Amino acid sequence: MTRDDAIYDVMVIGAGFAGMAAALFASAQGLRVVQAGATGGIDFSTGFIDLMGVHPVEEGHRWNNPWSAIKAVVRDCPKHPYGLLERREIEESLDIFTGFLTEQGLEYVGRKERNTCAITPAGTIKRTYRVPRTAWNGSVALGKKAPALIVDFHGLKGFSGKQLVETQQHNWPELRSVRIDFPGGRGELYPEHLAWALADPLIRERLVASIAPHAADVEYVGFPAVLGLNDPQKVVTHLEELFGKRIFEIPTLPPSIAGPRLRAVFDRGLPSQGVRTLSQKLVTQVRKMDGGMFQFDVGSGAARVTVVAKAAILATGRFFGKGLWADREKLTESVFGLPVVQPENREGWHRSEFFDPKGHPANTAGIEVDSRFRPLGTSGLPAYENLFAAGAILAHQDWMRMKCGAGLAIATAYKAVEELNK
Ligand SMILES: Cc1cc2nc3c(=O)[nH]c(=O)nc-3n(C[C@H](O)[C@H](O)[C@H](O)COP(=O)(O)OP(=O)(O)OC[C@H]3O[C@@H](n4cnc5c(N)ncnc54)[C@H](O)[C@@H]3O)c2cc1C
Repeated sequence: MTRDDAIYDVMVIGAGFAGMAAALFASAQGLRVVQAGATGGIDFSTGFIDLMGVHPVEEGHRWNNPWSAIKAVVRDCPKHPYGLLERREIEESLDIFTGFLTEQGLEYVGRKERNTCAITPAGTIKRTYRVPRTAWNGSVALGKKAPALIVDFHGLKGFSGKQLVETQQHNWPELRSVRIDFPGGRGELYPEHLAWALADPLIRERLVASIAPHAADVEYVGFPAVLGLNDPQKVVTHLEELFGKRIFEIPTLPPSIAGPRLRAVFDRGLPSQGVRTLSQKLVTQVRKMDGGMFQFDVGSGAARVTVVAKAAILATGRFFGKGLWADREKLTESVFGLPVVQPENREGWHRSEFFDPKGHPANTAGIEVDSRFRPLGTSGLPAYENLFAAGAILAHQDWMRMKCGAGLAIATAYKAVEELNK
């Protein structure tokens, strides 16, 4: 049997957080997995894994304990996808996911019962559940209000130490900033180029020599997240040795380096788990075969491949990922044409104020699933016995405002795989 004749146990449609997580969990369970997808939220993420931070969104109420927040959300919004999950399943999913990242050299940390206060590129504080190890010292320094210096670079857009200090001035009085020339860098600088440059230990030494005169009286030094592409912890550890200070990273504005770091981990890690990845390719056609299996066309033109799978996980996101599509009249699911829960008409998609604290109804549109995460058809029953769904495409949640993006994607992917493999 050639590769193209193979019958896969599962086709994962999507390569964002939900698709990556589903492919990881399914391959870990010994399933034969093929995955297709292009750019998703993961490529633009800050690298923080949110579980549940804000509820009710209209009050902007922030939670330190994500588990209490989830309980409150499920009580107040019973159709929220977290209502279909047990705490144990959410915990296991996050442990496996972050364990995989850590094994692949991108270590993640956090506390079991508490959100971590992480510093955003704007200098505001966000409650999130897991952060890259390279950001952790920033949260510790913030918690202690320790003397700290934020470094930024002439020519680097999307990150201002000065703005960060101004935003935090009442909360963190011993925070200062300095802007320096990046060693050998002139004109406009981009995070990815700086990250490559910092792979060279000599550049790190020159960097520390430029900053040291400004950092004599601080305990912590914070940088925009440019400290290496593939092995940021190695760069951080070396800078700590050179400086004798604690070092941390703060994400830059999207697209930041956190996305390429995560994608690189999955690009090398999933194939080594046996997953066949059809990168930067979308499912263009799906056919149901005799016996119930799916046949997918993936990609177009000469690069098109056809794949057969016994089951599928739909993890195509919402509008950003292209899982949902809007014409002048309605919102449509783009692969299977599944029914989409949505306001009755276009006028109901958005509230009149862009920054309305309640958010916009279009941002809770999506597909409904049964208790096994199978999308419902028009009859209210599962559209297919062997189709499951996970991530942002699920209805009744506004991940952006509730601050539950990656956590919800990972946990629902875990449950979808569990159900598929029963
Ligand atoms: C700018 C930005 C910042 C973010 N920051 C954070 C953060 O700090 N913390 C956090 O927890 N979350 C964050 N998120 C949210 C997170 O990245 C995810 O967007 C969210 O969790 C949903 O993930 P998803 O995989 O369901 O969908 P998406 O990320 O939207 O991915 C959908 C995937 O489906 C693929 N797809 C679509 N149609 C097809 C098709 N026909 N065939 C094959 N594949 C298809 C797309 O190519 C894509 O790979 C951020 C998102 C953005 C956009």
